[in-house]
Amino acid sequence: CALADEAGGVAFARAEAHAHALREMQVASALRHALERQELRLVYQPQVSLTSGAIVGVEALARWNSPRWGEVPPTEFIAVAERTGMIGELGHWVLETACRQWVAWRTAGLSVPRVAVNVSPHQLRRGDLALKVQRVLLDTGMDPRGLGIELTESAVMDDPARAGQALSELRALGVEVALDDFGTGYSSLACLRSLPIDVVKLDRSFVSDVDTAPESMALTRAILTMAHGLGMQVLAEGVEREDQLNLLRAKGCDLIQGYWFSPPVAPQALSERLSEGWRLAAQHLSRDNSQR
Ligand code: C2E
Ligand code: MG
Ligand code: MG
Ligand code: MG
Repeated sequence: CALADEAGGVAFARAEAHAHALREMQVASALRHALERQELRLVYQPQVSLTSGAIVGVEALARWNSPRWGEVPPTEFIAVAERTGMIGELGHWVLETACRQWVAWRTAGLSVPRVAVNVSPHQLRRGDLALKVQRVLLDTGMDPRGLGIELTESAVMDDPARAGQALSELRALGVEVALDDFGTGYSSLACLRSLPIDVVKLDRSFVSDVDTAPESMALTRAILTMAHGLGMQVLAEGVEREDQLNLLRAKGCDLIQGYWFSPPVAPQALSERLSEGWRLAAQHLSRDNSQR
């Protein structure tokens, strides 16, 4: 009977919402102790130039190994940290840890030109992002030019005026600014023009089928033309196959990041590979830029 079905459906939805809320509460309270118990760590994924083959930077990505649940995906615990306000503390820890790691690499004589850190919408909304970044730079002895900040397109477009202010302040410090997950956030082009952005990160959803879907190819081409016209570089995220790489290179994409070159790795593994001269092999580099 339809009515009974509906009632059953409602009860089920309620039970599910309850389970969801419970899990969120448990994750939030466990996360509160995770920092002090050193359950969090950073892994680093290389960002590679298609013109020089060099690793131009690494993106710091947070990982949480919980004694109770094992590896909790960052999409889950970052969202919980956002909703509970813990992101301030977590974000600070990420920034400081990444800067200390960069200084350690530098001290060891390894060349990691830049470490990029993700900053959440909440950190952007507080209005003192650049001040906080500046303090961490001073505390850690980090060269500002070695730091990149990644903000998602949607976080920036949420309040473009405020974001513009924060981005200008970061830039004035000498920090590089990247727009993350680009293409998913409904940017107004007029807005983008006035924002001080160095790198646009083409979202993985376009990159995933750029070699098979004409629509993704068209969008990718449009974003490349627009970004280059505005003096920005384009980094394709989530490159997993050589076909994607070949296509992106032919269209003039500047940088890539993805499992094809390397997944995110622990700092020690990165150090070892860097000291072996890790880079993109010559046969994968752009040779003729006139093909663009
Ligand atoms: P994001 O900033 O867009 O980071 C890229 C994500 O794509 C990472 O997922 C990375 O592991 C994954 N990825 C890289 N290459 C490939 C590939 O070839 N194929 C596929 N399928 N995936 C690839 P991860 O580490 O799970 O992080 C997910 C998101 O969580 C990040 O997206 C970022 O928004 C957020 N996040 C991670 N760490 C932090 C952090 O320290 N602070 C903040 N605020 N957010 C973070
Ligand atoms: Mg990112
Ligand atoms: Mg991204
Ligand atoms: Mg993404």
